Amino acid sequence: MNKKIAITCAITGAETTKQQQPALPITPEELADSAYECYLSGASIVHLHARDKDGKPTQDPAVFKKTMDLIRKKCDMVIELTTGGAVGMTPEERIAPVKLKPDMASLDCGSVNFGNEYILNPLPVMREFASVMNENNVKPTLECFDASHVFASQILIKEGLIKPPYHYGFVMNVFGGIRYTPKMLSALIDLLPPESFFTVMGIGKSYLQAMYGAIAFGGFIRVGFEDNIYYSKRRLAKSNSELVERAVRIAKEAELDIAKPDDIRKMFNLRN
Ligand code: ZN
Repeated sequence: MNKKIAITCAITGAETTKQQQPALPITPEELADSAYECYLSGASIVHLHARDKDGKPTQDPAVFKKTMDLIRKKCDMVIELTTGGAVGMTPEERIAPVKLKPDMASLDCGSVNFGNEYILNPLPVMREFASVMNENNVKPTLECFDASHVFASQILIKEGLIKPPYHYGFVMNVFGGIRYTPKMLSALIDLLPPESFFTVMGIGKSYLQAMYGAIAFGGFIRVGFEDNIYYSKRRLAKSNSELVERAVRIAKEAELDIAKPDDIRKMFNLRN
């Protein structure tokens, strides 16, 4: 059991819109303000996506750079960039911002149905992404939308492309991916190699149950508008930080200490 629990806030994502959630941060300034509020509330990692001027997902490194610079001016939060990007982006687009040397980046460990579309991550793309992350000292979060993705990650581990300690992200309840249930989570954890940490990401209605599941199994938590826009049934969250505040309260009730960014840097051996 970890004594300290890491809280990640995924503040925007690629799918959520302002129409659905008016408090969704879009511009680099809004993203940095939201990240900073989450940091003040106890989140130590921000998971970043970027949007263009029309609010559509973009992997433009210039937008990520501006956002990262603004966040780093405000605080020492650990910055994790997406390489999932959005449905339909090319692998070249998706990996481009990793050259900005964030602390961490997501690495999708396989293909999956995603609503009525799909996310494509063949092994050669995973290898390429892992190599670029290694060249830039970026720690991957091994995102698994299915049990087979954990096995795929182990192929890269065997090939020496991913080094311990490993950080897994179980993305549960994507429409078409693995469901969140305590037994499913337990089964995924059983597949992990030694020296693994894991964060549980419950999508939509499953997010709160998945948070309790993460705590029960000694894992880390992710909240934020990428995963869920509601605070409770039919009540939209006022902000990303409102969701972080609740996560902190629940973790403290379980007598866990909240990991600070420096704790994460030591735990994951971050180098940027
Ligand atoms: Zn994401």
